[in-house]
Amino acid sequence: MQGIFEENLHKYLEIESILNELFRETDYCVKHCILEPDHEKFPNPGCCVDRYYQKYDLDHPAFELLKTRRELLFGSPETLSRIKRISPCEYHTLAGCMLKTHKSPICLSFFCRQGIEWLRDRHGVMAYDYLGVHYALEWILTGDMKGSQYEEFKTSCLNMVEKINKTGLP
Ligand code: SF4
Ligand code: SF4
Repeated sequence: MQGIFEENLHKYLEIESILNELFRETDYCVKHCILEPDHEKFPNPGCCVDRYYQKYDLDHPAFELLKTRRELLFGSPETLSRIKRISPCEYHTLAGCMLKTHKSPICLSFFCRQGIEWLRDRHGVMAYDYLGVHYALEWILTGDMKGSQYEEFKTSCLNMVEKINKTGLP
């Protein structure tokens, strides 16, 4: 049983690295919200105002595996409770989220309306649907999305990165 979830986690991490590239290439959060927050536009700069890694995770062995691996790499929330941070989330340090990998689906997929509009207006990415990406990530972990559906989803993520790279900042 564990083997199946290992395989799912491997696929999940593959998509995570593509999404990380997508968000790194736009760098939208850092440039437009975190470093110089426009409080009218972004009432919650950094936007992690809760323990989202805990709040939306499913009670499922695949999520347990993700959590175990995350804690091996970055520590458990309990061991981090004393570090200086800016939100209730123990992983939210002054330098942003300390999880470079093994984020929960909601943490990995979320992009606010302003960010999604930026993707559309600046990069011509018309279909970043964070809820859709969130559910797809859950289904990859649980094994409900596999085979050609997984490949299709992966290709759609790669296409977004390619589009962003082509329309990158001058
Ligand atoms: S998703 Fe939106 S609110 Fe959250 S850090 Fe990025 S720009 Fe700010
Ligand atoms: S784990 Fe990271 S992305 Fe998720 S709520 Fe905490 S700081 Fe935000």
